[in-house]
Amino acid sequence: MSNPTIQAVRGMNDILPDEAQLWLWFEDTVRVWLEGYGYRNIRMPLVEQTALFKRAIGEVTDIVEKEMYSFADSLNGDELTLRPEGTASCVRAVLQHNLLYNAPQRLYYSGQMFRHERPQKGRYRQFHQIGVESLGFSGPDIDAEQIVMCARLWNKLGIRDVALQINTLGDAASRLRHRDKLIEYLEQHKEILDADAQRRLYSNPLRILDSKNPAMQEVISAAPKLMDELDEDAIKHFEAVQAILKLHGIVFEINPRLVRGLDYYNRTVFEWITTRLGAQGTICAGGRYDGLIEQIGGKPAPACGFAMGVERLLALLQEDGMQNPSVPLDVYVVHQGEQAQNLAWRVAEDLRDAGLRVLLHCGGGSFKSQMKKADGSDAICALVIGDDEVAANAVMLKPLRGGEQQRVELNELQQKIRELNLSK
Ligand code: ATP
Ligand code: MG
Repeated sequence: MSNPTIQAVRGMNDILPDEAQLWLWFEDTVRVWLEGYGYRNIRMPLVEQTALFKRAIGEVTDIVEKEMYSFADSLNGDELTLRPEGTASCVRAVLQHNLLYNAPQRLYYSGQMFRHERPQKGRYRQFHQIGVESLGFSGPDIDAEQIVMCARLWNKLGIRDVALQINTLGDAASRLRHRDKLIEYLEQHKEILDADAQRRLYSNPLRILDSKNPAMQEVISAAPKLMDELDEDAIKHFEAVQAILKLHGIVFEINPRLVRGLDYYNRTVFEWITTRLGAQGTICAGGRYDGLIEQIGGKPAPACGFAMGVERLLALLQEDGMQNPSVPLDVYVVHQGEQAQNLAWRVAEDLRDAGLRVLLHCGGGSFKSQMKKADGSDAICALVIGDDEVAANAVMLKPLRGGEQQRVELNELQQKIRELNLSK
């Protein structure tokens, strides 16, 4: 009896080679785009102290209450968590290494995030984000820069049908005023509130506004608006962000119910939403988090950031008919005989030195069966090397997309392959 097979963990996907080409292309595009705005890469661990996320994201949030992969390290008892998002880790790293010492920082990262949610299209337990964080900037210009740069990326990727919603969460004092009014209002509608909302009524009422429960939407939309409690500075900040967006022709909608699911946000928040991925329509989200650095133990410093969901973005591109890009081979080398194999290896390595993509047949077999593999590959040409070629110190060059085969001297080989490449 054979051993039972072992499957991947539910909600955690393999990205197979064909699709991985699309990921590589996407990551290259994103890197060039970010460099165009002077953002620099930072790489944090996938695992952090659980306390970091509790403190940063907030105890009474979906992520911390029910989505985190937390565990005690069985070797030393440390309380650890697979990162559910990148901002907390990024801020932790910036503080730990004192990166804000003499200059603000524009940073980005990409990689896996982990949340124990119900898997469905666009919602996985391991997913990928590109995260962008600007630390040490207080003005509305950086908020606007982040939004404008998103618009450029959508453009670059050819993504249409994505709408921008913005809101402001004001500052701590106005949120406290709003909180009191919100609790008073929600108490009057207790019977409509679901279990989560009941539980959060006094611990984190703002989170209730982030609920997606259809039964609560009416109550939520009539709730007292934070917008009505804003201080003058926050209003000015928000207006300045809008002015820059308008200057750049960026269309947006102010959604006073947009509060985001994490506690660290204040002032500007934004989401880019498409109607084409069902309930998983938010492809990119972020905002300002001026209090977080101090909350994690640093000297107070303002900051702003956003993250986009890579799976959701790629799903959109695929819906638009984008194919997985292929990186075709230039050359498939077939060979038979010991000396031919030595020559084949040498030729293949030389061609790679010259920057060509070369697949050297491994595993032996007749010329016929090797040629079948060459024909089935996406290579532009095959090189055939047998005893005759060894004797002549040459190779047989066989175009695989039409054209006559010819014997080619080694010193002319690169040139001939490049000619074939150009004419294909
Ligand atoms: P949602 O409201 O869809 O649950 P969120 O507010 O929890 O999203 P954020 O924490 O703001 O999401 O993360 C930023 C982005 O990461 C989201 O806009 C989305 O594109 C993506 N994302 C979040 N959770 C998942 C997930 N479980 N699977 C795939 N992508 C995700
Ligand atoms: Mg979520």
